Amino acid sequence: MSQDCLFCRIVAGQIPSRQLWSDDRAVAFLDIGPWQRGHSLVVPRRHLADGADDASAWQEVGPGLTAVADLVRRRLGADGVNFLSNAGAVAGQEVFHFHVHVIPRYQDNPGMSGLIRRDPAAACDLDGLWAHLTGPS
Ligand code: 5GP
Ligand code: ZN
Repeated sequence: MSQDCLFCRIVAGQIPSRQLWSDDRAVAFLDIGPWQRGHSLVVPRRHLADGADDASAWQEVGPGLTAVADLVRRRLGADGVNFLSNAGAVAGQEVFHFHVHVIPRYQDNPGMSGLIRRDPAAACDLDGLWAHLTGPS
């Protein structure tokens, strides 16, 4: 655990997050600056900068990726998802604790060109969205 690392501190509960899922190796929570409604991140509990050199890190986040994909399809009516991980600043990585973006996709905004577009509408009422995702089904 690195005190300098935002996601280590989220995993440790020192910084609040809207957590969706966890197991003993990884945690999933809503992204604070979503590109699409329900945009989430899955991070391993242990600190590593990115997933480019460590195949086991992908196994650690794998169950969280499928759990979040299932959740947003069932509860938000997502029609598909993108899984995306940036490795290195040149690739757009801003938080240097390995994470995979799970980006729900909807029929009204299909395709790759509509993927990376910060959406203010998707960011409003994150608390309500979180309650919807985590409340009783
Ligand atoms: P990267 O560019 O490193 O692949 O993605 C980092 C992601 O972390 C961004 O999508 C950004 O919105 C998200 N993020 C940054 N700070 C926080 C935070 O404090 N809480 C949460 N939940 N997400 C964050
Ligand atoms: Zn970390």
